Amino acid sequence: MSSLQAIRDALKQSPDNVSMLLLYGRACLEQLHLDEAREAFERVLVLDPNHIDAHLGVARVLFMEGDTSGAAVRAERVLLQEPENAQAHLLLSRVFLSEDDRARATEHFDRAAQIDGTMSDPALERELGRTARDARKTSPSPQAADPGFNEAAEAAEAGDEFYEDPFDEPPYDWRPETFFTPGDTQRFGTTFADVGGMDELKEEIRLKIIYPLQFPDLYKAYGRRTGGGILIYGPPGCGKTLMLRAVAGEVPCNFLSVGLHEIFDPYFGSTERNLHQIFETARANAPCVLVFDDLDSLAQDRRNVRESQLRNLVNQFLHELDGLRENQRVLVIGATNQPWSLDPAFRRPGRFDQAIFVPPPDNGARAQIITLLAKDKPISNLDVEALVEATLGFSGADLKWVFDRAAELALSAAIHSGQPVPITMELLLTVARSHAPSTQSWFEGVRDHAKHAAPDGFFNEVRKFLNAPSTKER
Ligand code: ADP
Repeated sequence: MSSLQAIRDALKQSPDNVSMLLLYGRACLEQLHLDEAREAFERVLVLDPNHIDAHLGVARVLFMEGDTSGAAVRAERVLLQEPENAQAHLLLSRVFLSEDDRARATEHFDRAAQIDGTMSDPALERELGRTARDARKTSPSPQAADPGFNEAAEAAEAGDEFYEDPFDEPPYDWRPETFFTPGDTQRFGTTFADVGGMDELKEEIRLKIIYPLQFPDLYKAYGRRTGGGILIYGPPGCGKTLMLRAVAGEVPCNFLSVGLHEIFDPYFGSTERNLHQIFETARANAPCVLVFDDLDSLAQDRRNVRESQLRNLVNQFLHELDGLRENQRVLVIGATNQPWSLDPAFRRPGRFDQAIFVPPPDNGARAQIITLLAKDKPISNLDVEALVEATLGFSGADLKWVFDRAAELALSAAIHSGQPVPITMELLLTVARSHAPSTQSWFEGVRDHAKHAAPDGFFNEVRKFLNAPSTKER
């Protein structure tokens, strides 16, 4: 209760703080204060009617109140806005399961598992008799290689040297919802302080992303490039998205975050046009950081893409990157779990030619993440060191799962006993020991890809990490 009270007090100071309202809603939900949770989520929706997390929050409240059809309507609304929202699919899976529609429950469960490589939900898995790992195996296999690809790719490559505005239209003043200026308070919800560990990586990001925008003249004086493309890659759940959000909170300039769902349009040519608009907006608002999370959805290897629409999108993307002239002060950051599935043309000089590997957190980083996760939770006798030892190879998302699961178990014990039950250290250790690190399969996959790959910065970094003595100790 004390953490709830602390958030309530903070909300009195800033009643319209969306991040805090969401935090409060989730905390109330965890403690089954459904009316308060709903009030918090609905307050967010008054401030921002399209806020996905708030809609999901209301959907969860409705589900817990037994209004499954109300929950389904909300979750489906989220999917209309964001078809790849794993949490909405997971909730729909629970809804259908509660209505005994196992086929549709499984369909949504599989979709959630395929979208979110770190997703695991032991309770649902038990009820469905199916693990998230099984569900991922049913993921549609990549399309067969298209023999017509090479000519198309080469033709696109041949035009790389100069850039023309393919749409030949006046500059846009188009503001996607995800465009933030330095004055927007919304974007400052996350900063480097919320990202556990990764101190070297933070400094690398400062050097490559933040300082060039802060001190362009210094960079020029030292002959260092500003602008261009940086790729952040590594196993899922290790904080890439979190880091991107933190970059938004740290950079003193405009920030634009782009997802496939924002630009994809079924009408022929419209997707490319939308992508072009995004780049135009960034150029017109320089200095600007342009972020593409899940870069692989937009930058797929054209050899594996049969639909001409997606292939055109990749060509357009390459074209736009080439249109960013040196020192134009537009920095493009892409993040991916699957660097090997990107079209190799994206790695050429001037495109995403700088890469940052985000490995699973080492001991020190796990200690920091554990401390962050334990904050404001009713945990008795937390022993960070013991938990660090029990979580070798865990990603940040795995650690979060351990805390969430332990909270769920303590909550259920509290409901059954009618008394508050703290999250004990023993419970945390038991949950941690029952969980296999989700990064393992990523490294297995990488080994396979590395065998067939040409010598490349990606795999060298990963190999270096795997061979480092500290990795062997982990
Ligand atoms: P990725 O983008 O690499 O797949 P995410 O950034 O989505 O991973 O991480 C999933 C969740 O795991 C985050 O929202 C956060 O709760 C937790 N997490 C991961 N890494 C960290 C970290 N370094 N510090 C704090 N939390 C983390």
